[in-house]
Amino acid sequence: MRLSQYFLPLLRENPAEAQIVSHRLMLRAGMIRQSSAGIYSWLPLGHRVLKRVEQIVREEQDRSGAQEILMPTIQPAELWRESGRYDDYGDEMLRITDRHKRQMLYGPTNEEMITEIVRAAIKSYRDLPKNLYHIQWKFRDEVRPRFGVMRGREFLMKDAYSFDLDATSAKHAYNKMFVAYLRTFARMGLKAIPMRADTGPIGGELSHEFQILADTGESEVYCDKAWLETDILAEEVDYDGDLEPFFKQWTARYAATDEMHDAAKCPVPANELVAARGIEVGHIFNFGTKYSKPMGAVVSLADGSSVPLEMGSYGIGVSRLVGALIEANHDDGGIIWPRSVAPFDVGLVNLRGGDAKCVAAANELYGKLREGGVTVLYDDRDESPGAKFATMDLIGLPWQLIVGPRGVAAGTLEVKNRRTGERQDLPVDAALNRIVAP
Ligand code: ATP
Ligand code: MG
Repeated sequence: MRLSQYFLPLLRENPAEAQIVSHRLMLRAGMIRQSSAGIYSWLPLGHRVLKRVEQIVREEQDRSGAQEILMPTIQPAELWRESGRYDDYGDEMLRITDRHKRQMLYGPTNEEMITEIVRAAIKSYRDLPKNLYHIQWKFRDEVRPRFGVMRGREFLMKDAYSFDLDATSAKHAYNKMFVAYLRTFARMGLKAIPMRADTGPIGGELSHEFQILADTGESEVYCDKAWLETDILAEEVDYDGDLEPFFKQWTARYAATDEMHDAAKCPVPANELVAARGIEVGHIFNFGTKYSKPMGAVVSLADGSSVPLEMGSYGIGVSRLVGALIEANHDDGGIIWPRSVAPFDVGLVNLRGGDAKCVAAANELYGKLREGGVTVLYDDRDESPGAKFATMDLIGLPWQLIVGPRGVAAGTLEVKNRRTGERQDLPVDAALNRIVAP
């Protein structure tokens, strides 16, 4: 993509309304624009990141055996009356009346709707287990929408729902999601720590929140320092095998949110305990028959009797993750994208827009990179080198390739690593090898 043609409305000044760094940088880098409180449009650069985050989430859900569906954003109120949550949910639910005076709502979550779909289709124990997920916009009329996409009113969530015959099988479904979550966040370069959590209004027994550590996190969290060195992706996981050892291994280390933490009872000595702030990027629940019982979602057994389904639900804040990734990856110059979620792999900068040799060299490089499957944002504008460097640093692509008159004469390029700041003059082929190396 040529920057001269790209829709990238950068802001020079720090926007006054942005209190935290990710919100500030997302606005400045032209990733999002607010349309009303807590509701955002995603512009091309932001949208590319959102899609990459979504894709990693999808791949890890699929790998665990969950199946993707798509449920609507608008739901009928009757379903929520069946579970008893229509009145309980309160002012966070956006209630809508259609032209026939039917009561509808913009879904804040989908337990009721998925239970209705499954109860109508699954009648026998032989059709279990199932795990169905979708990646869909949610609306919660938060009292205080803030921090940009981190606490929006409209936000993108991945929510999965598992259906099992008994508690043992439901725990296996829970373990699958537990492992899939750790893998998902690790692939984004995030250290997400599972913490025993309160189940809150969704109800149930077993629940973990996945928190990433960042100064601007809304929760206070505590964990064993050893967590920070754990390499999740080093483990080979077979989702059909016994996952309980993984669950035990990854929950054995102390980690708790402040509601669950008790300094007096904490087993980790103070010098090995990290006290930090956390951003909740995921939350999983096992809640048994809380919805299946009142809504009559049952299956028949071999002997003709019937039992309510054992259920769980599993959320990931897809749009929140984009903000959280920036909270965890930035410096004074701007964003530093981990490679797996970067909007483009490389920023190509031509320092001399008016110099025919530089233009030819940069154009050729642009073609080569794209042929090699590398995604490139090519700054071909007529701007000062200083402005081009500042733009590249702000939008945070992992690599910058810089074409200038001295290099063109010598047959070299400058390669800059955005994270380390390291710069190297390399011959063209060596430069290309450098950026595709893992
Ligand atoms: P929080 O405690 O942050 O309000 P929650 O516990 O109400 O979140 P869940 O119902 O567990 O949220 O939703 C699953 C995930 O959706 C959360 O872990 C979070 O990452 C994301 N999420 C929840 N509310 C918002 C929001 N207002 N804006 C952006 N993402 C959100
Ligand atoms: Mg939660």
